[in-house]
Amino acid sequence: MQTSLTQTLLHTRAGQEADEILRNCVHCGFCNATCPTYQLTGDELDGPRGRIYLIKQVLEGLPPTRKTQLHLDRCLTCRACETTCPSGVDYHRLLDTGRELVEQTVKRSGSDRLMRYILRRVLPWPSRFAPLLRLGQFVRPLLPPALKQHVPVKQDINRALLTKHHARVMLLLEGCVQPSLAPQINNATIRVLDALGITTVHEQNSGCCGAVSHHLSAAAEAKAFMRSNIDAWWPAIEQGAEAIVVTASGCAPMVKDYGRLLATDSRYADKAKRVSALAKDISEIIAAEFSRETFAETGGGTRVAFHSPCTLQHGQRITGKVENILTQLGFQLTPVTDSHLCCGSAGTYSILEPGLSSTLRDNKLATLQAGQPDMIATANIGCLMHMAAQADVPVIHWIELLEPLIPQLPQPTSLPTA
Ligand code: SF4
Ligand code: SF4
Repeated sequence: MQTSLTQTLLHTRAGQEADEILRNCVHCGFCNATCPTYQLTGDELDGPRGRIYLIKQVLEGLPPTRKTQLHLDRCLTCRACETTCPSGVDYHRLLDTGRELVEQTVKRSGSDRLMRYILRRVLPWPSRFAPLLRLGQFVRPLLPPALKQHVPVKQDINRALLTKHHARVMLLLEGCVQPSLAPQINNATIRVLDALGITTVHEQNSGCCGAVSHHLSAAAEAKAFMRSNIDAWWPAIEQGAEAIVVTASGCAPMVKDYGRLLATDSRYADKAKRVSALAKDISEIIAAEFSRETFAETGGGTRVAFHSPCTLQHGQRITGKVENILTQLGFQLTPVTDSHLCCGSAGTYSILEPGLSSTLRDNKLATLQAGQPDMIATANIGCLMHMAAQADVPVIHWIELLEPLIPQLPQPTSLPTA
């Protein structure tokens, strides 16, 4: 595609990157075929090709309007279009630049700004999110059904029982909302890695990966989270931590992108690159370390429908690993059609775009439940909570399936801290 970006933009790194991405697009429209929002609305501007065109216009100097913003807002950032594109168009990077420019020009309504502000001020901070969630769980029985579905039932768990401190150490990104919503996920991860001879360490000063702010076009705020995590992790990295384990597939692409996003930061560029190289989705770790002998039990033919989140299959291009692990452990995977499509969770999308989001969830649950599974397993806390609110069967993180299969320990010891 030919471009004529403004000279001001062409002198910036983001402008040059956007120009290169635009030139890769041949406008073939193959990507529309796998775009969830295009499938729902049938509007060219709700598909990747149309959005690329809108962003191009903005980059070439045409002032964006509320309509431009609306079509960019409706994008799930699911990146199915990137998987489909034969020309390797790096759509999400272009979208980041386009959204940031539009955000600077088009003023949002007061209620929209307030909602986005609240999300940025609450979700990434466990010390704010956890008490609010507890309050919601306390009054849950009194809530109307529409609100109730957003407040999960409180999970009481026993802390992980561990064998010993191993020579092999990995950092664990606990996540911002996950420890409050589903503490059993990190617990199961710690237990399974312990059984595989790996000690996990959670650095108390690490926090949100930055994805919430990043996807709400608050780039500076996102970078502050990244720098803070790098500072928190760096001593352990210098002491030989092998990897940074991420259990939420929505967070892993973000940490894997620190190197690019902080490339112009002279103080953090090298460290960010190292952190990105160490970041691993939990499925990558288990697939690499898997040993059938570690597991005392099998899944016993339990029927599982696996929902691979967009952030796993498109964002990280990890396919088949979880399915392979579960199959080897004796779970029976049920068939799932249109598995490339988003469930509609997409970070804060389910809150900001509830209409499209709930239609996508209904469609996703219909395909997942068609094979009559005993449960649905997924790899991201956002997808898990979103689907669990309406599913007819339990929805869990797949690592939870592994935890009961390892030998159980009689004596509790405490969780490792930094
Ligand atoms: S993004 Fe890729 S698939 Fe979509 S129109 Fe451009 S070249 Fe074609
Ligand atoms: S990221 Fe997803 S929703 Fe957005 S344009 Fe691509 S396929 Fe469509």
